[in-house]
Amino acid sequence: MDKIIGNVHSIETCGTLDGPGIRFVVFMQGCNLRCRYCHNPDTWNTDGGTLYTPRDLFNEIVKYESYMRFSNGGLTITGGEPLLQADFLIELFMLCKEHGIHTALDTSGSIFNDQTRILLEWTDLVIIDIKNFDKLQYKDLTGFDLQPTLNFLDYVNTLQKRIWVRYVLVPDLTDDLAIISDLSKFISLHRNVERIEVLPFHKMGEYKWETLNLPYTLQDTKIPTEAELLKVLEVFYKHNRNVIIV
Ligand code: SF4
Repeated sequence: MDKIIGNVHSIETCGTLDGPGIRFVVFMQGCNLRCRYCHNPDTWNTDGGTLYTPRDLFNEIVKYESYMRFSNGGLTITGGEPLLQADFLIELFMLCKEHGIHTALDTSGSIFNDQTRILLEWTDLVIIDIKNFDKLQYKDLTGFDLQPTLNFLDYVNTLQKRIWVRYVLVPDLTDDLAIISDLSKFISLHRNVERIEVLPFHKMGEYKWETLNLPYTLQDTKIPTEAELLKVLEVFYKHNRNVIIV
């Protein structure tokens, strides 16, 4: 134990947006995707974060145990892409589970291998971002293939793990209602999906692209209107009536 080192971008000690209850949220450094709307491009580089052993990070997490317990919260790992550091997270999640701390993994599901499978054994909740359901548009948006994400979702569902799906609505990039309808039907085949979150595109991370000297392509893209959001929520609701949709 503890020979593996994790590279952490940042920590939020009392998050309320990434899973149930109050969460200790860890943003891992490094991402294999290059989403055009990413608001955390500073997590992409696999170098440059803070190094922790699983035990050292666990010792930070456990300080907040009482907040997590009274709120039915826990630990959420996000990124970047957490699955790039699955070995580290396996040890961290094992420590958490030994202490009864709830574990959530927020991922694009794009890295699906043996280490991913082991990590999922120690994961209570999977929050999966499906960025587009059209494979060409997915590639254009993320620079990566869609299929591993779909395989990942199928696999997590067979494990009977709790699943939340996230979808970012970006005008002109992810707002095709026919494609969203296909995604909605696909999700409805997965009985363990208990929640779908539709997140409106925002521009709060735009300045980071400039700071990092990265080419940002969405300067002229608008934030979705309430009416546009409602239309998308309706499409998800049509096929997923027993699922919480927000
Ligand atoms: S997966 Fe997340 S962190 Fe990685 S590029 Fe996409 S939005 Fe950014």
